[in-house]
Amino acid sequence: MIVILRKDATEEQIQHIVDKAESLGLKAHISRGVEKTIIGFIGPEDVLRVTPLEVFPGVESVMPVLSPYRLVSREFKQDNSIIKIGEQVKVGDKKIVVMAGPCSIENYDGLLSIARKVKKAGASALRGGAFKPRTSPYDFQGLGEEGLKFLSEVGKEVGLATITEVMDPRDVDLVAKYVDIYQIGARNMQNFSLLKEVGMTKKPVVLKRGMSATIKDLLMSAEYILAKGNFDVMLCERGIRTFETATRNTLDINAIPVVKQLSHLPIIVDPSHGTGRWGLVPSASKAAVAAGCDGLIIEVHDNPEEALSDGAQSLKPENFGNLIKDLKLIATAVGREL
Ligand code: PEP
Ligand code: MN
Repeated sequence: MIVILRKDATEEQIQHIVDKAESLGLKAHISRGVEKTIIGFIGPEDVLRVTPLEVFPGVESVMPVLSPYRLVSREFKQDNSIIKIGEQVKVGDKKIVVMAGPCSIENYDGLLSIARKVKKAGASALRGGAFKPRTSPYDFQGLGEEGLKFLSEVGKEVGLATITEVMDPRDVDLVAKYVDIYQIGARNMQNFSLLKEVGMTKKPVVLKRGMSATIKDLLMSAEYILAKGNFDVMLCERGIRTFETATRNTLDINAIPVVKQLSHLPIIVDPSHGTGRWGLVPSASKAAVAAGCDGLIIEVHDNPEEALSDGAQSLKPENFGNLIKDLKLIATAVGREL
C-alpha cells in the first residue's frame, strides 16, 4: 500500500498514519521528496484495505500495490488454467470450445433435435435454461427440474456435456444432480451467497459478466468462488449496457485480452446476448475468436420464431453449422483449433 501525502501534511499527521499502520502489524517506509512525501507500507495489505486511510488528515491518495483479486490473478498463477469438463472437454487449452443450444429448455423432443444438430456441427456442450431470469414475472420462467431432466437425458443420449443456469443458492444441489457446468447469469454475478455456494462444489462454473459490471467486478466475483475452493471457473463476456440502442448489449471485445492479461482463468464469449440479433452473431463470434477467447456459448433454435425466449438472437442450426466452419479458419489463423 502506498500513501501519498498532501503537501501541507504535518509531522503529527504523518506519525498518526504510521502509528495506525504499525498497530495493524505493517512496517512504514517514509520517503520525503521535494514535491511530495509518500509512505510505503510493507506487510499484509488486507488489514489496511479495511482502514479508510483516505480520511486520515494529511492524506492525498492511497494506492493498493496488490490486486484485490488474488487467486484469480496472473500474479498468483502464471500459466493459463485449463478446466476439464468430464473426460472429453477442456476449456482454456488450444482448442476453442463451443457450447450451444436453446435459450430455454422447452420440451424433450425440441431439445434432442437441436442437440443432435449442434453436436454434428462441432459443439462440445449443450446449453439450455431450466430456471430463467426473466425481466417480467409473467414471461416463461423455465421448466425447472423437469427441464434439468431433459437436459441430462439429451446430453447423455447425444454425447454432449451440459450447462444450465442456477439462480438460487437453494438449487445448487439440485442442478448438480443433472448437469456438468453451472452457469451464473449476468443478473446474479454479484449474488455473493450463490457464488459462495457454487464455490463449495467441485463442478465447473461459467460466470457471466453483469450487464453493468466492470472487468474488475467480474474478477472479484470469480474470487469469491475460488476463495471457497473451486478453481474451475470460466469467465464469460456477454455484453454490457452502453448508450447504444442498435444492439441489445455492447459486446466488450476488449474484455478478452484484458482478462487474459489479468487472470489465468479461461474467458468465453456469448455473442447471442452480446448482440441480441442473430444476424450479428457470426461477426461477433469471429471477432471473439480472433481476439483470443477460449470458448463461445451460442443460442441455437430449430424454429426461432416460436422460441419461448430469445428467439431474435437464436441461430438456426444450418447457420450455426456454417458459422462453425468459418470459425475454424479464424482459429487456425490465430494459432488455435476449433
Ligand atoms: C442466458 O444465457 O440465457 C442468459 C439469461 O444469459 P445472461 O445471464 O447473460 O443474460
Ligand atoms: Mn438467453
